[in-house]
Amino acid sequence: MTNKASSPIIIAIDGYSSSGKSSMAKRLAKTIGYRYIDSGAMYRAVTLYAMRHGMISNDGSVDVDKLTAALPDIHIDFAVENDTQYTMLNGENVEAEIRSMAVSNNVSPIAAIAQVRHALVAMQQSFGFEKGIVMDGRDIGTTVFPSAEMKIFVTASPQTRAQRRFLELTDKGHAITFEEVLANVVSRDHIDETRAESPLRRADDAIELDNSTMTIDEQNKWLLDRYHEITGA
Ligand code: C5P
Repeated sequence: MTNKASSPIIIAIDGYSSSGKSSMAKRLAKTIGYRYIDSGAMYRAVTLYAMRHGMISNDGSVDVDKLTAALPDIHIDFAVENDTQYTMLNGENVEAEIRSMAVSNNVSPIAAIAQVRHALVAMQQSFGFEKGIVMDGRDIGTTVFPSAEMKIFVTASPQTRAQRRFLELTDKGHAITFEEVLANVVSRDHIDETRAESPLRRADDAIELDNSTMTIDEQNKWLLDRYHEITGA
């Protein structure tokens, strides 16, 4: 990783499902005035599109040819209103819908499809063209921005992560059990780590953070300290 004092850099934050990386990434971006991109939201938006267009059957199998043919018609962007970011799918705000358990249960098989990854990685790289960006996901430091100046890899135990996600979902009114959330977290991790196309793994030059026992404030401070260390800013 390089040290550039004042010019904008690319910050890649990867890690396991529900490890709190999005919240940390969002907070850092706000503090240092960078753009934040949630790459997971993009895979979720494609998944929602596939579900709505009947491309996923009841047994979970995906019509890859149909989805590949539809990729040029899937436009994903982010809108910001009152400090909150919304994922837009072909002009529609789908932020709430992409966080549903139905989408969570289908997203990892969709994200394992090479054609989907190629299309989304190209979009993600275009967001980072001018640098000054914080992007979180699974393959940002390895595939999307392998030359990112700052790379972080976030881990925590599956139980800790499932508990956080469970509280987040029940807070938002989703009727769900802890066991369902844990099963989803474990299954997504497994698919993400074992897929052939850019599997989830720590980039060799990423700094690892296990945040199992850290408060949100401690995590935010830890991340900001790393930013100051790397940029000298
Ligand atoms: O980050 P989030 O949990 O919302 O991501 C949803 C899913 O999208 C992940 O479980 C993973 O399968 C996929 N994903 C990915 N590569 C990324 C971001 C997310 O494969 N860069």
